[in-house]
Amino acid sequence: MHDEQLLRYSRHILLPGIDVEGQEKLLQARVLVVGVGGLGSPVALYLAASGVGKLVLVDDDKVELSNLQRQIAHQTSDIGRAKVESGRDAVVALNPDVEVELIAERLAGDVMLAAVEGVDVVVDCSDNFATRFALNQACVRTQTPLVSGAAIRSEGQLSVFDFRRADSPCYRCLYSPDAGDEQLNCSEAGVLAPIVGVIGSLQALETVKVLTDFGETLTGRLLLLDGATMECRTLKLGKDPSCPVCGRQ
Ligand SMILES: [Zn+2]
Repeated sequence: MHDEQLLRYSRHILLPGIDVEGQEKLLQARVLVVGVGGLGSPVALYLAASGVGKLVLVDDDKVELSNLQRQIAHQTSDIGRAKVESGRDAVVALNPDVEVELIAERLAGDVMLAAVEGVDVVVDCSDNFATRFALNQACVRTQTPLVSGAAIRSEGQLSVFDFRRADSPCYRCLYSPDAGDEQLNCSEAGVLAPIVGVIGSLQALETVKVLTDFGETLTGRLLLLDGATMECRTLKLGKDPSCPVCGRQ
């Protein structure tokens, strides 16, 4: 690290659990951020500020007026632009050292697998179950840690699936695609702006922990936050031995 970096990251370096060694790990890390919306905005900004070396931003959407209530990486002047481009501008303005790669399409199939294979951590900030299940499958296959977050109305949830550990459950252990839950999203159900900020910030925190081995991640636990009452619960998550994705065949 040169002098300017030592100064920029000095508040990380002061932490005994991070130090110069942890900051070096962040600087060398590559993170895939799937979705540059309400969750992806704080994830991308906090990871950029933290000095993560490379961010791969994925989104096939353009910025719309109704996004600006919560998607804080985008400005009013960005309306009509690709979210990945305006997200990149926000990241680079904050920290020009961060290398940013853009994928302006909905990830699926081999493109998704290649993108997951090329990074150290995947952060799921997507808004649809098809992407969530496919990302989980790609992460299990490549043993890439997955930091999963979701928010709707005034509620949010968060977990880490760390497939470098044999005992980690996966997203599919927790949710079934045929559970019959109607696919709710913010455009139909609404969401309080700061709740996506809170959950996205926690996703960034868990990502930094996974990358630096700081503290103890949420692996094997699910955090549920109700912003309306500020009730927070953490449930233990076990691996489902009969899970079709991560269970033994
Ligand atoms: Zn599983």
